Amino acid sequence: METRASFLHDTTRSAQIYKEAARWIPGGVTANIKYFEPYPIVMESAKGPYLHDVDGNQYVDYNLCYGALILGHGHPALSSALQQQLSQIGTAIFGTPHKLETEMARKLADLYPSIEQVRFTNSGLEATLLAIRLATAWTGRTKLAKFEGHYHGSYDQVLISVNPHRRDLAHPPSPTADSNGLPDYYAENTVVLPFNDLDQTADILKKHRHEIAAVIMEPIQGGFIPPDPAFLRGLRELTREYGMVLIFDEVKTGFRIGLSGAQGRYEVIPDLTALGKVLGGGFPVGAVGGKKEIMELCSPAGRTDILTTDSQPAAHEHTTPLFHSGTYNGHPLILAAGLATIETLQTGGAYQQLEESAMKLRTGIEQLLNVHGIVSQTVGVGSIFNLVLKEGSVRQIQDVLESDLSLRKKLDMHIVSHGIFIKPLNRFSISLVHTSKVIDETLERFEHGVKRLVR
Ligand code: PLP
Repeated sequence: METRASFLHDTTRSAQIYKEAARWIPGGVTANIKYFEPYPIVMESAKGPYLHDVDGNQYVDYNLCYGALILGHGHPALSSALQQQLSQIGTAIFGTPHKLETEMARKLADLYPSIEQVRFTNSGLEATLLAIRLATAWTGRTKLAKFEGHYHGSYDQVLISVNPHRRDLAHPPSPTADSNGLPDYYAENTVVLPFNDLDQTADILKKHRHEIAAVIMEPIQGGFIPPDPAFLRGLRELTREYGMVLIFDEVKTGFRIGLSGAQGRYEVIPDLTALGKVLGGGFPVGAVGGKKEIMELCSPAGRTDILTTDSQPAAHEHTTPLFHSGTYNGHPLILAAGLATIETLQTGGAYQQLEESAMKLRTGIEQLLNVHGIVSQTVGVGSIFNLVLKEGSVRQIQDVLESDLSLRKKLDMHIVSHGIFIKPLNRFSISLVHTSKVIDETLERFEHGVKRLVR
């Protein structure tokens, strides 16, 4: 079996461009996630399901900008919406309210059971940040509970336990082990919970019941590890009982696993929802939606209502309006792209097609790896899945960490070298232009990659 961690195809130009980039950009990348060894491949153009790199190699794209591009690259519905919007409004942005903001907010309220009102942001990161600020203002409490390994954007508190290397639940992880260089304040104010383990989660929440403002979670961990429905329902009950704001971070799952995201699929309704990725049709966007009374903490609506539940008294009576602003919030072109994306997804059978394509690819990959003696399983929901090289159930991030990650990395290098683009170790996302024919072509490429790996 080959063990080199290098590309098998010609990526000379990528290497040159990356070397130059690293002179001017730290690590040569504008986001950690874009880096992988030995260097990231530099792309030049894209169409439909395909990416083309600067060396002339073609790839079937399963990264799809980390899941955002559910219509693939350059979808005509998106291009025409953008052109029409530009020609109609005569500018990219007004810097004032405009009609598409209301149209999109109404659409989100129609589709997402938890959403009554919406604020727009420029990224998923900003959306989760605003949701946490709202929860803190609403409850008057300071601690945040988050789940082990769940990602909510690259900022302070939510980076705690993003890469858990060891179990350290209930107590904040030690700064050296896991705090990503953050001041102790964030670790001290963050409570880490185990996904899919209701008993332990209940114990931890009970212990901190007077301090925790919000529980934030990816309802489907990493976009691919499904929740036990009973776990989600139990968490909903616990957070309600303790007066904690339940935030579903649906940046990955919103519009990807269905028009109403994970909350629609599992029928568990959070207090606040963060959206991003697919919502912008490939452009930078985020949104927070939720209960009117919480959302109306945003200035200038700012109210002084009090959260009351059966067992948990009001948080505090003197809530001040929450400052939320952003030059580009609710950008007209991006909302036009988002609305065109949603409209396309609403046309007959889109999600069925996505799921069928994903299932065909998953089955094909599992069969190929099985034939070549590689222990593996695909784990996913709807049009996202990941490849986990181990037997047994995958219910938490620890199960993934215990799989054969080093073999997975080698496999990824081989499949990338054979024309399938994924970010090594990352999940696969499917788009509407990944037709049955494209999946067949992918499986052929995959087979060449695996054969080369095991020979
Ligand atoms: N939340 C989740 C679940 C995500 O997957 C991501 C990005 O991958 C974010 C938040 C941050 O979104 P953005 O990269 O748009 O800031």
